[in-house]
Amino acid sequence: MAKIEITLANGAKKELDSGASVLDVAKEISTSLAKKAVAGQLDGKLVALDYKILNSAKLEIVTKDSEEGLQVIWNTAAVVLQAAIKEIYPDIHFGMKGNVEHGFYCDTDNGSEQISVDALPAISDKMAELVNAKLPIASAQLSEAEALKVVDGDPYQAKLVSRLAQDGKVSVYQVNGSTVLSSGVVLSNTHDVKVFKLLSVAGAYWEGKSSNPMLQRVYGTAFYKQKELDAELARQKEAHDRDHRVIGNNLDLFFVDPKVGAGLPYWMPNGATIRRTIERYIIDKEVANGYQHVYTPVLMNLDAYKTSGHWEHYREDMFPPMDMGDGEMLELRPMNCPSHIQVYKHHIRSYRELPIRIAELGMMHRYEKSGALSGLQRVREMTLNDGHTFVAPDQIQDEFKKILSLMVEVYDDFDITDYTFRLSYRDPKNTKKYFDDDEMWNKSQTMLKAAMDDLGLDYVEAEGEAAFYGPKLDVQTKTALGNEETLSTIQLDFMLPERFDLHYVGADGQDHRPVMIHRGLVSTMERFTAYLTEIYKGAFPTWLAPKQVTIIPVNQKAHGAYAEKLRAKMAAKQIRVNVDNRNEKMGYKIREAQTQKVPYVLVVGDQELEAGSVSVRKYGQKDSESENNNMFIDSLLAEIQNYSRT
Ligand code: ATP
Ligand code: ZN
Repeated sequence: MAKIEITLANGAKKELDSGASVLDVAKEISTSLAKKAVAGQLDGKLVALDYKILNSAKLEIVTKDSEEGLQVIWNTAAVVLQAAIKEIYPDIHFGMKGNVEHGFYCDTDNGSEQISVDALPAISDKMAELVNAKLPIASAQLSEAEALKVVDGDPYQAKLVSRLAQDGKVSVYQVNGSTVLSSGVVLSNTHDVKVFKLLSVAGAYWEGKSSNPMLQRVYGTAFYKQKELDAELARQKEAHDRDHRVIGNNLDLFFVDPKVGAGLPYWMPNGATIRRTIERYIIDKEVANGYQHVYTPVLMNLDAYKTSGHWEHYREDMFPPMDMGDGEMLELRPMNCPSHIQVYKHHIRSYRELPIRIAELGMMHRYEKSGALSGLQRVREMTLNDGHTFVAPDQIQDEFKKILSLMVEVYDDFDITDYTFRLSYRDPKNTKKYFDDDEMWNKSQTMLKAAMDDLGLDYVEAEGEAAFYGPKLDVQTKTALGNEETLSTIQLDFMLPERFDLHYVGADGQDHRPVMIHRGLVSTMERFTAYLTEIYKGAFPTWLAPKQVTIIPVNQKAHGAYAEKLRAKMAAKQIRVNVDNRNEKMGYKIREAQTQKVPYVLVVGDQELEAGSVSVRKYGQKDSESENNNMFIDSLLAEIQNYSRT
């Protein structure tokens, strides 16, 4: 028999008979490896354990504890899931199957009786039945014509056949009489997916296009060991508890109703209070740091965006222009830069004024894809803590550092500690996408890097993440769901000053071109509020909390007047305070204030009335402490003023 040479991941070589399977190779290495093996990477391609290797090749054994190992079990679980669903709903149609970050999904179309979460227990039971029966999952390679016969009557599967075909062959799997198409590696027995959990159902358009039918996507996850599944479910619960959409609903911060407008959030009084506090904070901070705050319109003549290049490079993210009928085209701005440029241009500028720092809480509109919208985190109408600094070329590094240290100061006040810096460059392989000036790119990318190195800050470099007009520094954070997002950004721009023909009069009396630095310190009010909600888990520090103090009189008749007197005293000092004088039990009122995460609950009864004190219960603490009311108010005011976390 012909011999083949298998090169292993560590470079070692094994000689085997041609036709040996991946599992044979694993056994050849060690029995313990063979036990853990679930697939192979053969010359970089994922193949099943029983795949017969005919020629010499490189092989890496894929084990249960690897990333690819997870892909294999999720792929298998999706096949068993589809078979289980088919047994319950024989006439159902199936769309795509696939893996996501923490599991798998299977798309279904059950006509007028679509699958919902209510169906999950029954589907899960059926899946468990198939698992416990330890049924073989038999694989076969069919021609496209044969595969089409198998999926007869299912329009989605029929379309998938040609897409999944490789060299004219389609892989199908038999599970208890059901035939399932699958392109990935599938394990050989239903019992292999004994540790699984079905999680949720959500609408998903066929092929991701909103003009196509909406299918129902069943999500699940699976692991090789129960303790891995337990860890994943615990992680998901934590993510859910932190999810700003869940907290936003519980604390009545905001809502988004697709029927009223997808991605267009409504800020309820509690959310609006948080936002107003952030807005006041950031405006004060910026003004103190030399920024001049302005207000400019959200609508602008489309020509400005043609000049800026947005119309050419950014059109798909913009709302369509409004044709005013008299030749005027108005555009909802997707960015504030052209507006601030108008402010700069309104006067003749001298080198003595530079850097000129124009800032605004600028409302802008972006037509984000509907699938990308998420609570306040990604919206279509947003208000950016925007600022544009106009500098002379030799001021860039200095100004960049100033912005960065201001940003770090702001992060400190909000107690934001978990973030990384990303220097975003243009994609060297696709320079057409960007403003065409090689020298500008090289110079400015080098300058940013030098400034970061100078400050001794750690950063990663990301090619292809730059804006079309220049490189940038992004500050990356993580959402509760584990997705990376950009919170703050500082962007160099040599292009817009050129396009809008900006200048300043230099010391030499001549006109010179300024450089623009775009910067957002705390992102959009929307994304920042979402982020803060998640890091604080809804328990906002006192200075940001929608309600800071709730006063509960032990007895309304006896202590109501005292409670009211305290309330008025605090309200006069801008403390957000209320008296809960409803006819409810005290324990109930205290619990409710706690679910609303109010930082301080003050109980006042006979003793307090007599001593002019309050019984203070701080959020998250079991015991209450008695304190003189004036002292309490003074320390509360200090806490608010210092943006204290505790
Ligand atoms: P992203 O990569 O997140 O789409 P971007 O690079 O297009 O953002 P910029 O033009 O730099 O964003 O906008 C400034 C900041 O506004 C971003 O860093 C981000 O924090 C925030 N932001 C951008 N798009 C949205 C959105 N759709 N909803 C909420 N905030 C957003
Ligand atoms: Zn800008």
